[in-house]
Amino acid sequence: MLVLVLKVTAVLVAVRLLVRWLRRPRSNNPFASDARQSVRPLVIDQKARDRVIKQSFSPDRVPADLDAIVIGSGIGGLSVAAIMAKAGKKVLVLEQHDQAGGCCHTFIDKGYEFDVGIHYIGNLNSQTSAKTLIDQLTHGQLQWAALDDEFDTAVFGDKRYSLVSGRRRWLEHVKKQFPDDTDAVDRLFEAVVKCKKGAMGMVLVKMLPVWLSQLLLQTGLFNLVSDVFKWNKRSVQEVVTAETNNKDLQALFMYCFGDYGTSPDQAGFPMQATLLAHFWHGGSYPVGGASEIAFHMIPVIEEAGGRVLVRAEVKELLMDELRSTVVGVKVAKGSSTHEIRVPMVISNGCTIRLQRLLPRPVAETSRLWPLTKMSHATAGFSVFVGLNAPLEEIRGSGDSTISPRNWWVFTNNDITKVCNDYMALSADEALDRDVPLMFISFPSTKDPEWEKRYPGKTTMAIVTLANYDWFKQWENERCTKRGADYEGVKNTIGDKLVAQATRLFPQIRDHIDYVSFGSPVTNNFYLGAPRGEMYGMDHNQERFSGESQTLLRPATDVPGLYLTGQDILSCGFSGGLYGGVLAASVVLGRNCFSDVETLHKQLKKAA
Ligand SMILES: Cc1cc2nc3c(=O)[nH]c(=O)nc-3n(C[C@H](O)[C@H](O)[C@H](O)COP(=O)(O)OP(=O)(O)OC[C@H]3O[C@@H](n4cnc5c(N)ncnc54)[C@H](O)[C@@H]3O)c2cc1C
Repeated sequence: MLVLVLKVTAVLVAVRLLVRWLRRPRSNNPFASDARQSVRPLVIDQKARDRVIKQSFSPDRVPADLDAIVIGSGIGGLSVAAIMAKAGKKVLVLEQHDQAGGCCHTFIDKGYEFDVGIHYIGNLNSQTSAKTLIDQLTHGQLQWAALDDEFDTAVFGDKRYSLVSGRRRWLEHVKKQFPDDTDAVDRLFEAVVKCKKGAMGMVLVKMLPVWLSQLLLQTGLFNLVSDVFKWNKRSVQEVVTAETNNKDLQALFMYCFGDYGTSPDQAGFPMQATLLAHFWHGGSYPVGGASEIAFHMIPVIEEAGGRVLVRAEVKELLMDELRSTVVGVKVAKGSSTHEIRVPMVISNGCTIRLQRLLPRPVAETSRLWPLTKMSHATAGFSVFVGLNAPLEEIRGSGDSTISPRNWWVFTNNDITKVCNDYMALSADEALDRDVPLMFISFPSTKDPEWEKRYPGKTTMAIVTLANYDWFKQWENERCTKRGADYEGVKNTIGDKLVAQATRLFPQIRDHIDYVSFGSPVTNNFYLGAPRGEMYGMDHNQERFSGESQTLLRPATDVPGLYLTGQDILSCGFSGGLYGGVLAASVVLGRNCFSDVETLHKQLKKAA
């Protein structure tokens, strides 16, 4: 009886707080009207692009009377800044690298351009609410190109499978490839659908007050609203192996775990279910490459008087005299530092910033401190290959056809074991083995404007997981000056990856004109990722438990400090983007999710 009374009371309090929250004073609606403009031609002149994405920090470029500073110009930082700007706020984004974009930046070397962290994004092949959101944050200038209908190919040893776009078609296509296991396919698909249904629960616990979310979770009441945390108690591996003994089918429901980097026996099922559903309608790629993202979001931030300045590493958060409230940042510029005072600081990233930027006594007493002890996501190793031939010349045929799609290549179908075994090797042992997982794509083929920008050339990118400890000894050495031993380890792994990829695509062999490798310590330098991690915090079950998700929210318990980006929702362009929407909702005091949704519906009706 007592439990029932407690449960009813908790629900009533929750409803009351929600109503109060919905009625609280609001900033301007950032999505009050349609901000799209007619699409202008792609800006190809690199100098003109650099004038937008490479504006170097200097104290005289800092606007006066700022409303906020955002640390980090990844999609999580740019999106919160752009939404705030659309609500009339003046925001300064500070980026440690020499260009804006974070994982969405690109680099050009010896006449080839490469993206760093964008290969495909789901949910953008039609006018979805996500597309409306991006349209509004880029004045409608960011365009998307669809990948092939068969957007992913999974290779397990000598077997190949593919995934096609369209939810029903996806299911039927998988069944066609597993004619003896159609019941298991149905059950697995159903598990994804069911689990995905409750996924909004992950956002809900961040929107309610901390104490209320904790109460609802502890009493079990939260399960009445969403069962997502129940699902999270079961790993991807557990759910999949419970439904089928067919190793290939198991692997096909887990193959893309590299998109969040956590092994299927460590990740909770909701992560995989959300990811599979995210790509049910295929993949898209930004026309003109990933740097288009920052290129079109920066003007929106500038329109309200804000700026995005690079070569601006934030070294420290400034506190008030009582050392309780964040009141600004200390920025390094060469050997000097500059203090900038603002009413609020929003950090694009959680654990690392808290550990490094807050005074230790403040950080240690924050409720977030235990979370900063959680592991980082897996480190990544990237290979960038330039081919001196246009696609028509090297397209190939049959299984080797090069086209706008991704290849997930595993050495066998026991994908969890083979990857875990590899990651547990010492550096010396790893140098002797084939790399068990390769994500391969040809980014230039995905961009319809590529041929105009880089005629006669094609690019290939390979990404794999790596153990940070293989490279740790060089983490404090200067980039490009890490010495022969480092180059030896990096080149051995990199050369292996190129050789393995060439076995799949033999037609590229005589066209390899440029090769460059990005190790985990490269990520450390360019992405500000302390353990070379690709996706911020580890996407394991602990991170996605109700308790952790409740605390991983934009508002911290340090007044003046907020969080955005992949650490407060999940990795991926969309995870970082919606992390920004969540952060904007909190700092603007209004539900920006429903603001976008309302505009989206209006535009759809009018179309
Ligand atoms: C190799 C790779 C491939 C990927 N492929 C895809 C894909 O195909 N599709 C997809 O959707 N997602 C992909 N992702 C993931 C996706 O790119 C990221 O999850 C997302 O972009 C993260 O956005 P973010 O804003 O949270 O963080 P980030 O983009 O990491 O931004 C954080 C920024 O903060 C800056 N910073 C750090 N410390 C400081 C400081 N002290 N002062 C100032 N600035 C600082 C960093 O330099 C960085 O620019 C990939 C990621 C990687 C690494």
